[in-house]
Amino acid sequence: MTKIENGSDTPTNVQKYFESIKGNHAALRQFFSAMPKGGDVHNHLTGSAYAETYFELAAKKKMYVSLETGKLYEKKPMEVETIQLSKDMDDLHNHRMALIDKWSIRNFQPYKYPLGPDEYFFGTFGLLSALTRDAENLAYLMRELKVRAVKENVQYLEVMATSPSVPTDCFLGGEYATYDEQLKEYVKNGTYDDARKLLEEIIGEFDAKATKAVSDYVKFVHDLDERSNTLKNHLGVDTKNLVCRYQGYSSRGGEPLKVFAQLYVVHKACAEESNNLLVGCNIVAAENGEKSMLYYRLHMEMFAALATKFPKVPTSLHAGELTLGLGRPEHLTYHIGQAVNTAKAHRIGHGVDLPFESDYNTILGLMSSKKSPIPVEINLTSNEFILGVKDSEHPIKLYHKAGVPIIISTDDPGILRTSLTEQYALATLRYGFSYEEIKLFVQNSITYAFLADADKAELIKQVNDLLAEFERKISIRHLEPDVSGSEN
Ligand SMILES: [Zn+2]
Repeated sequence: MTKIENGSDTPTNVQKYFESIKGNHAALRQFFSAMPKGGDVHNHLTGSAYAETYFELAAKKKMYVSLETGKLYEKKPMEVETIQLSKDMDDLHNHRMALIDKWSIRNFQPYKYPLGPDEYFFGTFGLLSALTRDAENLAYLMRELKVRAVKENVQYLEVMATSPSVPTDCFLGGEYATYDEQLKEYVKNGTYDDARKLLEEIIGEFDAKATKAVSDYVKFVHDLDERSNTLKNHLGVDTKNLVCRYQGYSSRGGEPLKVFAQLYVVHKACAEESNNLLVGCNIVAAENGEKSMLYYRLHMEMFAALATKFPKVPTSLHAGELTLGLGRPEHLTYHIGQAVNTAKAHRIGHGVDLPFESDYNTILGLMSSKKSPIPVEINLTSNEFILGVKDSEHPIKLYHKAGVPIIISTDDPGILRTSLTEQYALATLRYGFSYEEIKLFVQNSITYAFLADADKAELIKQVNDLLAEFERKISIRHLEPDVSGSEN
């Protein structure tokens, strides 16, 4: 086994073999199916489960569905025409096929849908909400993610599973309306220093009143994880060696105080949680929504205030999941900038609007810093479907050239009908990365995971050992005629 001259441990013949299959999609799929891929650190639980699983659950629970919209109901609604699903219903196969199309991007036909693919995509979550409200169902979905990870040679999952419940008054009682009005006034006037001070004051209120919500949330996530381990799977896959952690989040489409209360509960839960399952905080949902845009800077100030209060809690922020045509051009100029400069994000999810950002050079400088780099989580299929951005429109090469650590992830592989294996195949096919670069992306997924230090060290060693073993097999099997005979 020869070593390449740049000091890499990778056998030269593995690199050569990889170069020889770079343009071959099927060969890349085979290669990446077998390759240990480290972690998928950007994926949403309810968007990662496949529509087949949702159908299975809905039929088992005899739920009602509108065939026109695909919306599920627990009880028969009076005002909407529905049919009841069950495993022994007439025409099961055709209904199943039609609903898989409604609950994913399979067979998506833009001319049949009045709004854009982004609206279609985000709309699917609402169709399934009657199922995803329930803790037992979420555990069933979580089990699917774990089984898939093991079958796909993935060693670590960092899942955005659920947001915490907060009361309607957001722990603020009679003061809610005053705080709400004041915050909105500051946003209107662009006086964010005042907004920050007020947010700090509100944190004081949360400290006194959110204790139960925090412990309930921690318990919910623990139960979800434990339950998903006890459910059997027909593939007989043992998931006990898979390392799994959770990020909490808030949806950026909510009222500002609700978003803040949820982000607070997640931060506090991460800071206090002793079993180390909840490891970070995020913010999700369409970035071009009305409230998402209006309160973007305020949301970043919320993260900044929480970072001061809970300095050890890491954050990964969906930022710059926008492109030309999705909003006004002037609004494509500051989302990533504020996420790294104001909110002090530890990782950036998507980062697609980078070429339009005013602070382009500062952003890349900060993200590629040797001391505390801020990796970007790249979700190619998601960006292709939701934003219509692919090939050279995607800024992945700009990040890479600037030295920003890249992590390959899936986002919502269920709705998007994809997998982590396919994301690696697309990254190679479209951008021509070398095996060494791909291997670094795999290592990045653990290096920048929100794991405790000891867990991380152990997992890095495990993934590197698995990669060495994988390379040894590839090396023998494909390339050295003097030894390949002994392998088969
Ligand atoms: Zn996402």
